[in-house]
Amino acid sequence: MSPLIDFHVPGDYASAINYDSPRALKGFLDERGLGMRKKFGQNFLINPDARTRLLDALEIEAGDAVWEIGPGLGAMTTGLLERGAVVYAFELDPGFVRVLHELFGGRPAFTLIAGDVLKTWQKTNPPGAYLLGNLPYTIGAIFLAALIENNRFFTRMVVTVQREVAHRMGARPGSKDYSSFSVLCASAYTITPLMVLKGSSFYPIPHVDSQGVRFDLRRDIDPAAYPVLFRPLVRHLFAFRRKTIKNNLQSFVASRIKWDALEITMEALERSGIAGDKRAEMLGIEDFIVLANTIDSLLPHEVLRST
Ligand code: SAM
Repeated sequence: MSPLIDFHVPGDYASAINYDSPRALKGFLDERGLGMRKKFGQNFLINPDARTRLLDALEIEAGDAVWEIGPGLGAMTTGLLERGAVVYAFELDPGFVRVLHELFGGRPAFTLIAGDVLKTWQKTNPPGAYLLGNLPYTIGAIFLAALIENNRFFTRMVVTVQREVAHRMGARPGSKDYSSFSVLCASAYTITPLMVLKGSSFYPIPHVDSQGVRFDLRRDIDPAAYPVLFRPLVRHLFAFRRKTIKNNLQSFVASRIKWDALEITMEALERSGIAGDKRAEMLGIEDFIVLANTIDSLLPHEVLRST
């Protein structure tokens, strides 16, 4: 058995916490000598209506396996288990890990994966077509990008993130929030913004608003079948977003091949029908795909293999 995973530790699920009350939560933590750690992005969602709406948005059925990221003291875990989910919970804080054992450890439908989810998810990669998480602001965008870049897709994900991150997730070409992360998200998922959550929905109260976001896996494309250069190209073109596509494309090609970078760039732009004086923020996913495919066809195979 993996040392990261503990199954079936006897627990006492009946001793539920009042997840709606900052006082009750603080009292519970104080009794156990635990505290809240800002560096782990810890803010409990104390708004019961918001918790229900986020759980509803996941649209799971009994028996569905769900990854829960950052369960904290288990407010959402309780809701998932009540709906019959098989929960794989990833939690970093050792104090919370102990509490989660205590509350849910005896339940066969609950598996706790202790440690930093950025490291543990790939080592354990449990089954599950659904993901739920009130994501710590420290890792939200990095974690979701890592899942997509490693082709670990979910039928549906419902996450809560800082509002500014939610804007970037769902941004469209031409908007100021449009970034390589927006393209990455949209390359695999249809993004639907859910409710905005004011700071008062959390304990302790964060300085910024949060927002729920729903990700539905796209059915019209196979996200794992993008051209090999698609993701590196998107990242490169946005890394220098004030430069023109032509300049960025040329440096991208030059980083892979030592000769003919300008010729290949001009040929790629012409074949793709994309004006070289545009900027990355004006291009949609289809443009990036066409461009990546064209560059693929113009570069020698050994260059692509090393990408
Ligand atoms: N789910 C709870 C809720 O909604 O009330 C708590 C959410 S709180 C915003 C974020 C949770 O993620 C905390 O429990 C925190 O300890 C945990 N966390 C932070 N960084 C983490 C990481 N790298 N891996 C796993 N869990 C992490």
